[in-house]
Amino acid sequence: MSAIDTLPPLRDVIARHGLSARKALGQNFLLDLNLTAKIARAAGDLTGSDVLEVGPGPGGLTRGLLAEGARRVVAVEKDARCLPALEEIAAAYPGRLEVVQDDALAVDWAARLTPPVRIVSNLPYNVGTELLVRWLTPAVWPPVWDSLTLMFQREVADRIVAQPGGKAYGRLAVLAQWRAEARIVMSLPPEAFTPPPKVRSAVVHLTALPRPRFEADADTLSRVVAAAFGQRRKMLRAALKGLAPDIEDRLHAAGLSPTDRAEQVPIEGFCALARQMG
Ligand code: SAM
Repeated sequence: MSAIDTLPPLRDVIARHGLSARKALGQNFLLDLNLTAKIARAAGDLTGSDVLEVGPGPGGLTRGLLAEGARRVVAVEKDARCLPALEEIAAAYPGRLEVVQDDALAVDWAARLTPPVRIVSNLPYNVGTELLVRWLTPAVWPPVWDSLTLMFQREVADRIVAQPGGKAYGRLAVLAQWRAEARIVMSLPPEAFTPPPKVRSAVVHLTALPRPRFEADADTLSRVVAAAFGQRRKMLRAALKGLAPDIEDRLHAAGLSPTDRAEQVPIEGFCALARQMG
């Protein structure tokens, strides 16, 4: 029995089901259930919400989410070896946990959830940024989710909350802060995980804004920032010349200088440019 529920400790679960961590699946597990409950609490009041969890693994965070009162959890896990352990959790919380064995990049998660929806995950590092970008760039806003509470490598978390003018500022900062309020709410050392990764980790909490801060088409803005930061040391006129032959005129029309570098351009500037690209 553990501190937060009547299920066995995670070390026992992992040993019983032979869940040796696989690097290719980004498997660094959280075994301290007090910590996973704390992460669940960082997502806010879960009692009236459905939760999407990507990569539950042996279920440490899943148990935290359920113990903290999530109405329902839909947990998408690619590794079939984890399913028996997750089914034990589902049996302990009847009707509140749906386990989906699939690739989170392929699954239609929204169809399985009823709003309000929160997304809470200790993300596998290999698909973490791709998932975040997808969650931030649906064509229609506000999105299905109200908040994202996500564990990343610390360096990725820093990029999400970065301000213009520094090395960390780039595509993730622009896309995240354009449509959401983003802050780092927890920082974790490698030893918090089994096996420990090489780097520190951090939990980022993003709350969807009712409306984006500035008007822009999500796809166009994504293309513009990808190109601008793809060659971040170049001036904008060079980095963006592949997007339109008259890019200098468009930069001027957006109030930007063709000799600026992407790092100096605030979110408002990228949105103005995206509007000029339409
Ligand atoms: N949530 C667990 C925890 O906190 O201990 C495990 C987190 S571990 C960092 C990432 C999990 O994501 C692993 O269980 C891994 O198998 C799973 N995973 C990796 N790639 C995935 C994908 N494309 N779709 C769904 N799950 C994936």
